[in-house]
Amino acid sequence: MNIDLEALKSGDRRVLAKAITLTESKLDQHKEQAQSILEQLLPSTGNSIRIGITGAPGVGKSTFIESFGRHLIKLGKKVAVLAVDPSSPLQGGSILGDKTRMELLSREPNAFIRPSPSEGALGGVSQKTRESLLLCEAAGYDVVLVETVGVGQSEYEVAAMVDFFLVLMLPNAGDELQGIKRGIMELADAVVVNKADGESLQLATQTQGQYQNAFHLMQHEHFWQPKVSLCSALEQTGIEEVWDMISEYQSLSHENGAFEHKRAQQNADWLKKLIHEMLALKLQNSKEVQALMPTLQRAVLDKQVTPFNAARKIIGLL
Ligand code: GDP
Repeated sequence: MNIDLEALKSGDRRVLAKAITLTESKLDQHKEQAQSILEQLLPSTGNSIRIGITGAPGVGKSTFIESFGRHLIKLGKKVAVLAVDPSSPLQGGSILGDKTRMELLSREPNAFIRPSPSEGALGGVSQKTRESLLLCEAAGYDVVLVETVGVGQSEYEVAAMVDFFLVLMLPNAGDELQGIKRGIMELADAVVVNKADGESLQLATQTQGQYQNAFHLMQHEHFWQPKVSLCSALEQTGIEEVWDMISEYQSLSHENGAFEHKRAQQNADWLKKLIHEMLALKLQNSKEVQALMPTLQRAVLDKQVTPFNAARKIIGLL
C-alpha cells in the first residue's frame, strides 16, 4: 500500500485513514510497513492532549463527544475520536453500537472519527488504538478522544494510553453509588454527571456531591484532586467547563513535570506488556514446545515432575 507521509503530516484525512487501516491489517507485510511508517512519524507525535472517555451504555457518550468535539472545533482545534470497543463475546456484536454516531461532528472538516478496530493481532484492540493515536498526532490533531464502554478491561487499557481520564455517569440516588466499580473511580481524573437537565437536574446535583465525597476518601496525584462536574450533552450546557477543567489539568501537569512523567511511564509499561505478549506468542508457536508439552503435562499429572520444573523445561526451549 502506498502511503504518502507528507500528505499524512499535512492532515489529509484519507491518507490518515489508509495508514490506520494498514496498522489494523493482519497481513505480515502490512504490519511491517505500518511499523516502518510509525517509526518515521514518531518525531511528529506526542503533541496532542489524549483524553479517555468511558461510561455505561446509554450514559450519553456519543452525544457528549459530539457536543464536546464541536466545542473544541469552535475553539480552532482539530479533534480525532477513536474507539476501543470490547465487543460483547456473548452477542458477538459491538457494545458501542453500529448506529450512526456523532453525525454532526463527522461532517466537520477538522474532525476525524474512527470506529473501533476488530480484535486480532498482538496487543489486541488497544495496541491498534495506540498506533492510531500516534498517527492522528502526526496528522496534526490537537485533541484525541478515546472512547470506551466501562465493562471488562477496556477502561484500564484506555486509561493506560491517555493523559486525562473522564468518566461519564448518570444522575443517580445514593444507593447506586455503591454499585459503581471502585476501580473506575480510581482511574478517573474527573467524573462528569451527564443528563443534568430537566427534571434530572436536582438529582444530578445530589449525585455530584456524592461523587465528590467519594473522591475525598481516595488517594490521587499530588497536584490534582479529581473534579466532579455536571453537563447536559443534549442541551450543550457544562461542556465548556469540562474543557476548562482539562486545560487546567494540562497546564498544572506540564508545570510540575507530571505530564511527561506519566507518558514515559505509560510507554515503559507498554513495552513490558508487549514483551510479555511476544514471548507468549513465541511459546505458542514453537514446534519444540508443542512437541514436549503433552509429555510434560502427563508427567505433572502423574506427579513425576513438579509444575515448576516442567515450566522451566519449557522456557529452556526458547
Ligand atoms: P452512549 O450509548 O453512551 O453513546 O449514549 P448516547 O449518546 O447514544 O445517548 C443515549 C441516549 O441518551 C440518547 O437517547 C440520547 O439522546 C440521550 N442523551 C444523551 N445525552 C443526554 C443529555 O444530556 N440529556 C438527556 N436528557 N438525554 C441525553
